[in-house]
Amino acid sequence: MSEKITLLPDHVANQIAAGEVIQRPSSIVKELMENAIDAGATNINLIVKDAGKTLVQVIDNGNGIPHNDLSLAFQRHATSKIKTAEDLFSLKTKGFRGEALASISAISHIYMVSRTSKDSMAKFIKIAGNKIENEDFKVAPLGTSFSVKNLFYNIPARRNFLKSDSVELRHIIDEFNRVAIAHPNINFSFIQNKKEVFDLKKTNLRKRISSIFGSKVSSLLVPIQENTPVAKISGFIIKPSGSRKSRGQQFFFVNNRYIRSPFLNHSVNSAFEGLLSSGYHPGYFIILEVNPNKIDVNIHPTKTEIKFEDEQSLYSILRSTIKHSLGIFQVTPTLDFDRDSSMDTPYSYKEKTPSSPTISVNSSFNPFKEDSNIYSIDSKESKSQIEFESESTQSVIDILDFDFNPKQIKVFQLFKKYLVTALPSGLMIINQNRAHQRVLYEKLLTNLSLEKTPSQSLLFPYKISISPKNLIYFFENKTVLEAMGFEFKLEKDSKVINLTAIPILFDKNQLDHLFDKFFSDEYRFDGFSKADAISKQLCKVLAISNGKSLNIEEQQELLASLFTCKEKNLSPFNRPILVNLDPTEIDKKIN
Ligand code: ADP
Ligand code: MG
Repeated sequence: MSEKITLLPDHVANQIAAGEVIQRPSSIVKELMENAIDAGATNINLIVKDAGKTLVQVIDNGNGIPHNDLSLAFQRHATSKIKTAEDLFSLKTKGFRGEALASISAISHIYMVSRTSKDSMAKFIKIAGNKIENEDFKVAPLGTSFSVKNLFYNIPARRNFLKSDSVELRHIIDEFNRVAIAHPNINFSFIQNKKEVFDLKKTNLRKRISSIFGSKVSSLLVPIQENTPVAKISGFIIKPSGSRKSRGQQFFFVNNRYIRSPFLNHSVNSAFEGLLSSGYHPGYFIILEVNPNKIDVNIHPTKTEIKFEDEQSLYSILRSTIKHSLGIFQVTPTLDFDRDSSMDTPYSYKEKTPSSPTISVNSSFNPFKEDSNIYSIDSKESKSQIEFESESTQSVIDILDFDFNPKQIKVFQLFKKYLVTALPSGLMIINQNRAHQRVLYEKLLTNLSLEKTPSQSLLFPYKISISPKNLIYFFENKTVLEAMGFEFKLEKDSKVINLTAIPILFDKNQLDHLFDKFFSDEYRFDGFSKADAISKQLCKVLAISNGKSLNIEEQQELLASLFTCKEKNLSPFNRPILVNLDPTEIDKKIN
């Protein structure tokens, strides 16, 4: 072997680099789609022949490449995306290494046409094995069309190494899906051998996921949301009942880039601990937004592995965010208003016209009847008494799951703060403020799940003057407020909002207080989801306070509503609502 050191010719170096970046046709799909996104495209069409072995073509309507730069784009380290090493720490684009086009053109035949909005004509370029064969002008639409033909034509060993068409196509679909999920706001289509595989229209994340994985997955999605200085987390997890033996539904995106992260995957697994049968994997579509200078995407040629500065914190934050959602979705399954409502199970309220909330009466069963002996601890005759006795003190509240006439509830108010009532299970003392918070919270969340939230129009619009800072805050939350039944009109000068309708749950006398609080800093929220956070905030403001005297009807209404809540024991802020002194406890104290 010669000991003389020589520099490798460019085409050899490019072939070696190509080996790292381009492993199979799906790698080309990834690079070309990412270039289209970096070019600001809103329509991206992928056309593939023979699982990409014969052709991979990506057509975009992005910015295009200026005529003089067209051939330069195929040089190694030719990129328009970074200029200095510092730029690496503030990356907003997917590409930056300037390697993809040089690599692809070293191992295939290329035909590229591109036009910018400044040029009336497009320029095309034809390249084979890094050599420009032809360059000229032609008429073409704005954007870029990039065709890669005969992949690995000059490296038979690599070409022979490719798997069957069905395997290669699966890899392509995986890459396509990753890009399409990361960018629900872009239209994508995918045609293989002249047949349409996907036609995805611009939408929100939930609908994008369901148009790729089917509407069944959509009903299993639970939103996650957290905002911390380390990262902003959003996206969805799949309910444990939708977990699978394969890992095909595990997606992490960091700053819109699909990444693999065994470390973060571990964090998700640990949040699901105890909820999955062995051999099953959780499904997730997790979107992380991280300050670009806190990550290093440069550690892997295909940029699918990245390094986080504060890995440990991210691990714990992600874990607790998921745990929180897993816990809460059972109470509030339809919290996410981005959902595709056409895919929901029909909700019985859907077609109802707005009406005031009422409490229905089941006249055939009334545990509060004077003659039912239920107040007698000794009585074993009453069927309800026997049932109640078998329940523990806490769950006694849960079995009060029937409709009844609130007028028959025996109750009195104590210290203008507690409602005291006698139940078969004992003596119950209820904090009026927390009980009302719970009632309002569940009603608000139910309203969010309705297609048409009952609201009342205001005869005279309620005017809210608004500062520019609050205006931003208002717009961030407007959709949720509208889903709750508020309607707004913004005046031309953007300084006043006219509130034209409010949810029927509210009284217009409460509006001053409500919007005062809504815009005050103490109430800005950072909770699980906007809908959840706003609901909590509203019920905190609107719930009757402790210290307010309630007349008997109000007391009865409140208790009746509390007993129909899904959760009766805890306020939306996880504070106890009530205590129940059961007969044995009372006996003990009096003995
Ligand atoms: P990188 O994406 O890392 O910059 P590439 O080799 O993928 O490197 O592309 C080189 C350059 O070619 C890009 O920086 C960009 O300026 C230009 N380019 C490639 N594809 C497109 C496209 N679809 N639309 C506009 N410009 C493109
Ligand atoms: Mg690129």
